[in-house]
Amino acid sequence: MPLTLFNTLGREIQAFEPREAGKVGFYGCGPTVYNYAHIGNLRAYVTHDILTRTLRRMGYEVTHVMNITDVGHLSGDNDEGDDKMVKSAEERGKSVLEVADFYTKAFFNDTERMNIIRPTVVCKATEHVGDMIALIKKIEANGFTYSAGGNLYFDISKFPSYGDLALLRLDEKKISRTEVDENKRNPYDFVLWFTKSKFENQALVWDSPWGRGYPGWHIECSAMSGKYLGEQFDIHAGGIDHVPIHHTNEIAQSEAATGKKPWVKYWVHNEFLVLDKGKMSKSAGGFLTLQSLIDKGYDALDYRYFLLGGHYRSQLQFSWDSLDGAKNARRSLTDRIKTLAEKANLSKTGPLPDGAAVDGKAPDAVYAGKAGTYLAAFDKALEDDLSTPRALAELWGLLRDAEVNPAEALPAAFDMDRVLGLNLVDAAQAKPAEDEALVQKIEALIAERAAAKKAKDFAKADGIRSSLKEKGIILEDSPTGTTWRRN
Ligand code: AMP
Ligand code: ZN
Repeated sequence: MPLTLFNTLGREIQAFEPREAGKVGFYGCGPTVYNYAHIGNLRAYVTHDILTRTLRRMGYEVTHVMNITDVGHLSGDNDEGDDKMVKSAEERGKSVLEVADFYTKAFFNDTERMNIIRPTVVCKATEHVGDMIALIKKIEANGFTYSAGGNLYFDISKFPSYGDLALLRLDEKKISRTEVDENKRNPYDFVLWFTKSKFENQALVWDSPWGRGYPGWHIECSAMSGKYLGEQFDIHAGGIDHVPIHHTNEIAQSEAATGKKPWVKYWVHNEFLVLDKGKMSKSAGGFLTLQSLIDKGYDALDYRYFLLGGHYRSQLQFSWDSLDGAKNARRSLTDRIKTLAEKANLSKTGPLPDGAAVDGKAPDAVYAGKAGTYLAAFDKALEDDLSTPRALAELWGLLRDAEVNPAEALPAAFDMDRVLGLNLVDAAQAKPAEDEALVQKIEALIAERAAAKKAKDFAKADGIRSSLKEKGIILEDSPTGTTWRRN
């Protein structure tokens, strides 16, 4: 079965056929780096990661491009409100670029902890303003723009298919606006280039044919995807919130500039992660970060496991109970992997077999037995619009099936993990967890020894050290205290 994806453009499941055999150009909208990513944002990047890993497992050479928005994104996607970067910089008493740099690093720290593979190309908006200006010039030359009040606008009346992605009924739908831009001829028109009309205090400005100013938000994705993936490419992804404005505008800009349709063949949108209370939002504050989960004792991979338990196109409700469930399930998973590794005696024989496939599918012959059946069902689940819940179920089926030889189950599980990204090879190689009671006993003896030393009872202190040594526990003193290790 080929990969099938739900294409927002057309609202149907479609067989995936890349524009060029064997290769995939994929653009996923990246973060606006004015704050930490919240755990809802991370759902979007895990979705992109699963898509990329699935395509690679299927043998495609994937170029995954992600932008970093460090200029131009207003609090409303439709040109309304404050500039997110400028506001954050003012609140923190930093420059916009300092804020961008700090939160970009924090973002990649999060994605690394979540085992999200770094995109092939990561591109910053501020480093591509020249490309944006070049693209806007093309759009202008093709007659899709007008200037008003110092800004350059995209004129949607010149682009008849405007809104096709979102199935917008422009005549019917009243859009709710908190501010009215009198310059716009149509409320759906959007800014390509701002000069002085919006913010006099804009920190970052560039010279352009339309005056000194800065780009609208949407143009960066059209410009950068075009630069790295060409004028037309295969897949574009982002959160579901981007359908009616951001992605709708991206399509209008790109197709107006090149005249080529469709700009993007497949549109993949993830549904939202919601809290019990409702929507999670960066600008409204009070959002959960990955670090806040880690501070509560969860591992980043517990959250990844939690996300994989939901299909990317279904809304997912976050709760601590369900995160606990994911944590426990992942713990059972790694325990099971460890047990199988011990049974297969693999951990003692050097590097573990890492599955037969490096890039692309393992030949069926590699898993002649039942393991191959589970792996095939796993692949089928992913090919069916990236069904990670079913894929996880196949992994569990494989690991629980007593008929599958551990020496065959493990490599098959590692092959599955190329897509799931749960670090199962590490789990197999991990040392057995320390016995909690034993650890407490050692810590108590270390404290007793410290007290003895303080009371100058060196005979007792030395006695404790040597009795532990006999049991294979070595104490190491340093200026910051005493630590222990196994001999
Ligand atoms: P932003 O940094 O605000 O541009 O958002 C980054 C990505 O996260 C975009 O693809 C959004 O569509 C997506 N996103 C925002 N909120 C959520 C949420 N609660 N659940 C899932 N995805 C989200
Ligand atoms: Zn975008």
